[in-house]
Amino acid sequence: MQGNEDQELRQEWDVVLKNGGRRTIIAEAARIEADDGEPRKVTFIIDITQRKQLEERLKQANERLDHLAHHDELTELLNRRAGLQRLDEEIKRCERYGTPFSIAIYDLDDFKAINDTYGHSAGDSVLQQITSLVSAVLRDTDLHIRLGGEEFLIIMPGVNSEEAYQGMERIRESVAQQTFTKHQLTMTLSSGITSYVEASGTRLLDRADKAMYQAKQTGRNRVVIASSFM
Ligand code: GH3
Ligand code: MG
Ligand code: MG
Repeated sequence: MQGNEDQELRQEWDVVLKNGGRRTIIAEAARIEADDGEPRKVTFIIDITQRKQLEERLKQANERLDHLAHHDELTELLNRRAGLQRLDEEIKRCERYGTPFSIAIYDLDDFKAINDTYGHSAGDSVLQQITSLVSAVLRDTDLHIRLGGEEFLIIMPGVNSEEAYQGMERIRESVAQQTFTKHQLTMTLSSGITSYVEASGTRLLDRADKAMYQAKQTGRNRVVIASSFM
C-alpha cells in the first residue's frame, strides 16, 4: 500500500478453511485509487478447487492409461510392444556408445499341465508368483517383459553373455527351489541367452529363441547360450 510499485499480484494458494476444509484459490490483488484519492487494495478470490480436482483426476486417468498401454495386466510386467521398443532403444544405445548387453528368453516348462490339472486361475497365480520372484532376483537395471503366454524376455544392459548366463542360472535355481500357490507346485524354466553383436531386434530374439528351444530339447530346466551358428 505504501510503495510506489503499481503491480498486480496474482497467485495460487492452498488454503485451510476455519472449518478445517481445504480449498485451492487464486488470489489477485490490485491497488486502486478511491474517490477520496486514498489508495485501496482490492483482492479478488477465485475458488478453483473443482477445476484442480478435475485436473488431478484427468492426470491420474492418463497415467493409468499410459500404464495399461505399456504393461501386462496379469503380471504387471512390460508388455510385448513396450518391451520390443525398449529392445530397439537398447540396440541404438549399444551402437552409439558400444555398451554391450544381453537378452534372455525364458519359458516355463510343461506349464500346460498346471492349467489342465489345477485350472486356469491356478495357472495365472503361478505366472504372477514366478514373475515376481524373477523380478526380485534381477538387477534394478534389467528389464523384464512378458512376450506372451508363459514366455518372457529379460534385457540386461551392460552385461556380457557369460554374466547373463550366471544371472539366468541363479534365476533358474531360485524358481526350481520354490513352490507356488496353495497347491505347493514346483516349476522349472528353460532359457536361451544371446548378446548383442550386430543384429536387428528380431534377429536377436530369434537367436535367443533358438537357444531356448535347444534348452527344451536337451531336457528342460536349463539355460543355453546361443552359439554363433544360431
Ligand atoms: P514346454 O515345456 O514345451 O514349454 O511345454 P508347455 O506346456 O509349457 O508349453 P505349451 O506352449 O504347450 O503350453 C503353454 C501353456 O500356457 C498353454 C496355455 O494355455 C498356457 N497359458 C498361456 N498364457 C496363459 C495365461 O495367461 N494364464 C494361464 N493360466 N495359462 C496360460
Ligand atoms: Mg512352456
Ligand atoms: Mg510357451
